[in-house]
Amino acid sequence: MTFEALGLNTSLLNALTASGYTKPTPVQEQALPAAMAGQDLLVSSQTGSGKTAAFMLPSLHRLAEAGASGPAGKTAAQEAQSARARGERPRFRPAQPKMLVLTPTRELALQVTTNTDKYCSNLRHIRAVAILGGMPYPKQMQLLAKNPEILVATPGRLIDHMEQGKIDFSQLQILVLDEADRMLDMGFIEDIDKIVAATPDSRQTMLFSATLEGVVGSMARRITKDPQTIKI
Ligand code: AMP
Repeated sequence: MTFEALGLNTSLLNALTASGYTKPTPVQEQALPAAMAGQDLLVSSQTGSGKTAAFMLPSLHRLAEAGASGPAGKTAAQEAQSARARGERPRFRPAQPKMLVLTPTRELALQVTTNTDKYCSNLRHIRAVAILGGMPYPKQMQLLAKNPEILVATPGRLIDHMEQGKIDFSQLQILVLDEADRMLDMGFIEDIDKIVAATPDSRQTMLFSATLEGVVGSMARRITKDPQTIKI
């Protein structure tokens, strides 16, 4: 099997070639067709299996095919600049991401963001931003003001921004829970439920976890619709 045979967008194929990826890993081979078709996924796989690309490539493919050529009209930053040029106070607009990846730790969020940057190097209008605990708020406000298509976040800090009205999930199309078992072990269950409740029911949901049993399984049933289950 090749990435080309899976039908990935040409810009993504070029980025994969440049990254030295010659063929999909087993989890990618199984996840891509269903995820590219918009189906929900429950995947049990380990770090090192290529799981990041298993959810990121089909998501970038869908965003690119849907013409996610940046937000309609001006970005919040451009709008603020025009307002200042007119001598007016800029009107605040929340970020409206199309995709959200939740991760248990800052390290994983940064790793996901770095890989995403690599995959979308040829998709100029799609950008990913990491929203992490411990990062200064003003810096994060600047990143959010650019209205990125993709947010990669740890749950606690994301909730802070949501509660301050800085993020609006009404346009969200894809939700990923990466290492869901670790997020639950770390006590993020209420935060996750609150975040999921703020997203549209029409979203595609993909949950990755070392195990799909127990609490993870019951959360998976709560937040996914007719998912395809993949066990690697
Ligand atoms: P992950 O399991 O997502 O943490 O990925 C583990 C490592 O494998 C990362 O360094 C990826 O860049 C790399 N990787 C993922 N998919 C492929 C692939 N199809 N071919 C070569 N390397 C890959």
